[in-house]
Amino acid sequence: MTAVLVAEDVRRTYGETVALDGVSLSVDAGEVLALVGPNGAGKTTLVRALTGTTDAEGSVRVFGADPRAVDRERIGLLPQEFDPPERLTARELLAYYRGLYDGGRDVAAVLADVGMADDADTWYENLSGGQRRRVCVGTALVNDPDLLFLDEPTTGIDPAGRRALWDLLDGLAAGGTTIVLTTHYMEEAHRLADRVGLLADGSLVALDDPGAL
Ligand code: ADP
Repeated sequence: MTAVLVAEDVRRTYGETVALDGVSLSVDAGEVLALVGPNGAGKTTLVRALTGTTDAEGSVRVFGADPRAVDRERIGLLPQEFDPPERLTARELLAYYRGLYDGGRDVAAVLADVGMADDADTWYENLSGGQRRRVCVGTALVNDPDLLFLDEPTTGIDPAGRRALWDLLDGLAAGGTTIVLTTHYMEEAHRLADRVGLLADGSLVALDDPGAL
């Protein structure tokens, strides 16, 4: 297996707060890693450190390079807090984000994948919370990334929508996409992940297959 992501002794503090206290992990090509842990454990900070969207001490290599130097066509990122322009339809939003890349996927296909084909022409502001989150997941898929980071992708999505998203992520993983996601739902981690990383107080206290955890 080839590691597509290697993090060594990653540390991040905010003032007195130690958000990440020396996290090391690696993720192989095609693997699905779920990060779980209580609020404040450091999940979001770790995703940000791994994607180069926050400064951190230690070493992070994505496809063998600094994450900020990696061709952005290769990485998809759904941040936990993501507020796209509200006066655009789901279709327009995905087309907008798709336009930021040279290559990428057909917008209609992504809308179908995230279960938004029927509401594609509704303004974002008029969508339900779960529908909004599905559109947001879609924005992370438009560039057909090799490595996908999803910070709480299914929070606020109803059970049926969640299961549909799980099927979608399964399909992506089966197609070779490497996925790192955070979740509050152990069931989700169990269902999706090849390995689960348990964070507590900024430390990775366990990293194992879901059955073992
Ligand atoms: P999780 O995603 O597991 O809930 P976070 O990574 O968001 O955890 O937060 C880890 C710790 O770092 C928390 O104590 C949080 O308050 C703190 N933290 C995160 N981001 C910031 C920030 N931008 N400024 C100050 N403190 C932060």
